[in-house]
Amino acid sequence: MIVEIRKGLDIQMINLIRGFKDILPEEAGIWQHIEKTARMIFEDFGFSEIRLPILERTDLFSRSIGEDTDIVEKEMYTFSDRKGDLITLRPEATASAVRSYIQHKLYAVDPIQKLYTIGPMFRRERPQKGRYRQFYQMNAEIFGIDSPYIDAQLIYVLMVFFLRLNVTDISPHINSLGCLECRPKFKDALLAFLSGKTDQLCTDCKRRKDKNPLRVLDCKVLSCQESLDDAPATLDHLCDKCQSHFEKVKYILEKINVEFVVDKRLVRGLDYYTRTTFEIQTGSLGAQSAVAGGGRYDNLVKILGGPDTPAIGFAIGLDRLVEIVDLKKDVYEKRLNVFIAALGERSREAAIEWACALGNTDVSVEIDFSERSLKGLMKRADRLKAEFVLIVGDKELEEKSVLLRNMKTKEQVSLPIEGIVEHIRKSIS
Ligand code: AMP
Repeated sequence: MIVEIRKGLDIQMINLIRGFKDILPEEAGIWQHIEKTARMIFEDFGFSEIRLPILERTDLFSRSIGEDTDIVEKEMYTFSDRKGDLITLRPEATASAVRSYIQHKLYAVDPIQKLYTIGPMFRRERPQKGRYRQFYQMNAEIFGIDSPYIDAQLIYVLMVFFLRLNVTDISPHINSLGCLECRPKFKDALLAFLSGKTDQLCTDCKRRKDKNPLRVLDCKVLSCQESLDDAPATLDHLCDKCQSHFEKVKYILEKINVEFVVDKRLVRGLDYYTRTTFEIQTGSLGAQSAVAGGGRYDNLVKILGGPDTPAIGFAIGLDRLVEIVDLKKDVYEKRLNVFIAALGERSREAAIEWACALGNTDVSVEIDFSERSLKGLMKRADRLKAEFVLIVGDKELEEKSVLLRNMKTKEQVSLPIEGIVEHIRKSIS
């Protein structure tokens, strides 16, 4: 299609969709640094990467997250594809990881699988600071272990990650949501409590409370939250097995020096959670204080058609994390080793070969092809924060040597053109 641009015609700019954002080059460095740190830690603790699709069948999420949750009821980007199949942009990654574990029979190789994945999630929430409609998470999922040791170790991994990024204003809040055995008794108690509060509940909760009273506990509406002050807590209704599981999680956390807060109001907004649930909260973020969250989902593999397999995982919210990491810029800032200021066509012809050869080693290099003066070129080298500038003009070509300027010390050395790439690499190392 040819678009005609007529004189005097106003061309409308096309902007981002609300709640979506660009991560510009100047920010990308810190994202890369965080991801690199995470990958390193995950691999050190025995996790392997799994890459999952962004689109899945809608049923996957409604069956796992739960029909009555805010995510499934109100926040999913769901549409039918050209054949009429209902598909959804993933609002979270756990369901996909479970689907993949089952579909590829990863359990047949080894029921214990430790997986991590990094990527975008989509929820049509009300956008505000720290809350976007496309946001990024790093997920860890562990299949096949029901021992409380792994719950504690997983929280430890999270803490290592934050501390390595210099994020210290954090505390893990933990709770236990019980299991299929103790949940019904808790639900009865909660339902009885909620029946006396119906007037204070929002319309959604009035509707949800009979079918899934737990969802009232994580409703974001203020009047609902206020009415829950003395609501029953799962912790007071745990069966013996869940109780001792939780006691052991706490004991191991203490043993490995992780300070935590027991938060009996922590329920998380998804149906699949069982037993240990946790959130990493920070005082540095204002209203959106949770920077990571997770927990056990011991029934989900079975619910989605796989073998009965316990599992636990977490998600770290990258968008919120980027706002609180406190690192010196030089830790993650992009570095330019050499800027080549080639003056005139003959110099550019010679220097293009050097630039290609340097870039093909581990040296980052930028060559400017414009007709700018040396002053202009040096200005651009400054802007790019080049560590060294290689200066070459007709005079240097004639003398078969070029100048290498250290931009920090302002020292200049002369290097022979013969074997220049090696000379540069030696001089800048
Ligand atoms: P969840 O998947 O709801 O358990 O959330 C895990 C983490 O993802 C949260 O602690 C947040 O850091 C992050 N997160 C969840 N929803 C959003 C959102 N809409 N925008 C930005 N970050 C989010």
